Amino acid sequence: MWTELAPIGRDQGSGGYRRYAWTGADADCRTWFQEQAQARGLHYESDHNGNQWAWLGDPTAGDAVVTGSHLDSVPDGGAFDGPLGVVSAFAALDELRSRGVEFTRPLAITNFGDEEGARFGLACVGSRLTAGLLSREQAYALTDADGISLPQAMENAGYDPEHIGPDRERLARVGAYVELHVEQGRALDLTGDAVGIASAIWPHGRWRFDFRGEANHAGTTRLIDRRDPMLTYAETVLAARRAAELAGAVATFGKVSVEPNGVNAIPSLVRGWLDSRAADQSALDTVLAEVERAARERAERDGVDLTVVQESFTPVVEFEHALRDEINRLLGGQAPILGTGAGHDAGILSAAVPTAMLFVRNPTGVSHSPAENAAEDDCTAGVLALADVLEGLACR
Ligand SMILES: [Zn+2]
Repeated sequence: MWTELAPIGRDQGSGGYRRYAWTGADADCRTWFQEQAQARGLHYESDHNGNQWAWLGDPTAGDAVVTGSHLDSVPDGGAFDGPLGVVSAFAALDELRSRGVEFTRPLAITNFGDEEGARFGLACVGSRLTAGLLSREQAYALTDADGISLPQAMENAGYDPEHIGPDRERLARVGAYVELHVEQGRALDLTGDAVGIASAIWPHGRWRFDFRGEANHAGTTRLIDRRDPMLTYAETVLAARRAAELAGAVATFGKVSVEPNGVNAIPSLVRGWLDSRAADQSALDTVLAEVERAARERAERDGVDLTVVQESFTPVVEFEHALRDEINRLLGGQAPILGTGAGHDAGILSAAVPTAMLFVRNPTGVSHSPAENAAEDDCTAGVLALADVLEGLACR
């Protein structure tokens, strides 16, 4: 399975993946998923929101055990973030069948659509829609960098966007959702374990900072006469780093757009996106308040107008303790329990169904990069751990 997925959406230059929602690479991943489902005799369906499901047993029976992840990627992402969870789900099912277990609950494997938000700027669109955390109206208003709307993109990919929106009936059939994911940090490398269990996802959000100044000639405009939003932006980036350090949080300006974006022009607009996360809400609030304070102070000096828009926010997610404890027991009670700063579909779904996550060791902690990695032995350990969990939850 890994070899089949490896070339899909891989950029020859960077070696990273560009599997954006509703593009050709995404379609190839989705075809692969459907083929895996059919090869195992599973009942395949794509729901109203474009999430893919592969069912063993009766999809309508209720109390299903669901496992999976996502196949899309960030720009130049790694091979493991997302696909490891989907591939491990199919491999765990193969393992359970070879063990000859008898399933007492329906099992489903999922690929949630548009998890990374690389194209429309909002993460976990598929699971958010299903869980009712993103309305149909909000989803219809999402557009990509080329001005193509989400429903248009879905339609172009051959999916009907007419009925996107909350899917409570489907969620009501799910008794537990377990997502395996490559760790996006070095906690397991430091503890020396191949597999860990998630405790919580930090509160996190994205904020757009629009710095508006005045475009002018880079050669003839005296420094004193400029209203240069790049200066304000630069100071804001440094302020975000300082604020995050002081609060024990993380803050990143990883995306920026500049108008008119000319090498010999003072910008009229610099638009920067801040991503910030912290272990608790008050630390995150502190970071935001400080970044915005520093940005406004500098904006005034530079004669720049600033607007700050919160584009997304996800509060802290504590995974359900009973399910987490049960999984810990099924794994022998020795697996480390870790918090994470990364968002996941499991975090979104936790509002509606009991969810849990397994992490597989990432020796460098690097993620959202072509250098993201996990050792084959650790991936195999992840598959076996997931199989143990699914057997404990869904089998006799
Ligand atoms: Zn992921």
